[in-house]
Amino acid sequence: MFFEKKFPPWMDTLPPDTMLYHAKMAQVNDESIHRVPKWANTSEDLEYYRYVVEHIESVRLVWEKFWRNIDKNHNTLDFWIQDCEFFTIRGLIYSHDISKFGHEEWNGYRQWFYPGGGTEDKDMFARAWNHHQKSNPHHWQYWLMFEDGKTIALEMPFEYVIEMLCDWTAMSVKFKNLPSNWFAENRGEMLLYESTVSIIERWLPIFDEVYGLINKEV
Ligand SMILES: [Zn+2]
Repeated sequence: MFFEKKFPPWMDTLPPDTMLYHAKMAQVNDESIHRVPKWANTSEDLEYYRYVVEHIESVRLVWEKFWRNIDKNHNTLDFWIQDCEFFTIRGLIYSHDISKFGHEEWNGYRQWFYPGGGTEDKDMFARAWNHHQKSNPHHWQYWLMFEDGKTIALEMPFEYVIEMLCDWTAMSVKFKNLPSNWFAENRGEMLLYESTVSIIERWLPIFDEVYGLINKEV
């Protein structure tokens, strides 16, 4: 058992409109969602916890803006619903990055981003990041296969590409860099199957719009 059932005392002070509050409520109703790891007891743990939840909250916001935007301005939502893709992607979005709450990833990330006086351990971070990308199909690295002495990229299913674009756009909003700019800057570092590139190029302009919509509000 890696999780504690009780909540840390600071969670009781949360206003009811924050996602952390809902995470807490979800914890009451469903032990499998957003449980606060039992090792999240130092101030650095709590800072990192808030950082992860803020990211998850941002990915959900991007998704909500994205599908409403294509429904309103691009008239393509019917296609999604007919293909059940809408609900498949929604399911992925609402469980995005949950593995970060597990013991395989928590300490490796936490000590790297919030060392709090301790020294950062690069190998420990590498193991956490490796676990993350190998257990989350929304990372293009998940779709790499080592075969006959070389690494090849496999085709990435549509729903995971959209989840990946929601993830990228959330980070774009945080670092104030248009998603298509970010992709152009980082494309050279990525190994992607051709159809994956086509899906990215097809949808990235819509995510640029979403980026604009969210930036207008903040
Ligand atoms: Zn991820």
